[in-house]
Amino acid sequence: MAFRLKGVVTKAYGGFYYVSVGGETLQCTLRGVLKHRKVDVRVGDLVTVMRSSGGAVVEEVFPRKNVLVRPPVANVDRVIMVFAVKDPDPSLMLLDRFLIQSWHEAVKPVICFNKRDLLPDGEIDFIEAYALAGYTVLQTCTVNGLGIQGLRELLLEGITVFAGPSGVGKSSLLNAVQPGLSLKTGEIGQKIKRGKHTTRHVELILLESGGLVADTPGFSSLHLPEIKKEDLCFHYPEMERFIGNCRFTGCLHRVEPNCAVKEAVSVGKIDSGRYGRYLEILNELLERERG
Ligand code: GDP
Ligand code: ZN
Repeated sequence: MAFRLKGVVTKAYGGFYYVSVGGETLQCTLRGVLKHRKVDVRVGDLVTVMRSSGGAVVEEVFPRKNVLVRPPVANVDRVIMVFAVKDPDPSLMLLDRFLIQSWHEAVKPVICFNKRDLLPDGEIDFIEAYALAGYTVLQTCTVNGLGIQGLRELLLEGITVFAGPSGVGKSSLLNAVQPGLSLKTGEIGQKIKRGKHTTRHVELILLESGGLVADTPGFSSLHLPEIKKEDLCFHYPEMERFIGNCRFTGCLHRVEPNCAVKEAVSVGKIDSGRYGRYLEILNELLERERG
């Protein structure tokens, strides 16, 4: 008897593909015709597996909804961008670039401000700015458990990648969600910095809840994607509803008169910090265009 099953590739190693099917992991080979066509099977791919007494074979790879470059994972449902509110201080510029990149890669971003215990309640304006912009924002603390249940609920289904600088608490968060789990963090970034050969194996860990989490954090090196200068604003959800009211089509929301975005900034409907960083990134794109 042979059974055809649907599952998710959680690891590719040594010529085998490990496929999670209903809580079980099957070690599979790739069907000859797929190998022949050089079909690229990634961690995160949804596949059908033919299971028989002779073993398990990946027969078909379904089209992907997206694919991340780093870590190389397909069909990512969300990237949780973790920053500490302090120690290390958050780079909001880096966060904004992550957000632009996730938009570009068609992955839903979730922002997680960790180490919330280190910040007084009166200093959370920068956190509120992201919620105001329309993003999903979590505030967590692995010391007192704040926000951990909310994080756990986010991970119930689908594929999640954690991203963020080292030292912000990514491993601690994952361990708080499910004790015993951890991420390969800092170490990998350092190897890349030293320019050593680094194997880029990534594995999806099956959580008790059924969700899958990548064991390697994302976005360790960041390059601004190719974006046309007039398209940058569409990467900012808080600007979207104002853009149509600017006097000029193709308005860059910089020096143009009767700009609805600048007006929204001046009355506090758009966070001025986010807008300031938008201008910096815009300048970078302008310089790139000039060559
Ligand atoms: P990673 O490099 O992003 O995986 O960060 P780690 O999980 O290794 O955490 C870095 C440091 O921050 C460790 O010393 C943790 O104990 C500490 N840490 C993690 N979460 C919190 C938190 O919510 N509050 C505080 N005060 N420290 C934290
Ligand atoms: Zn404008």
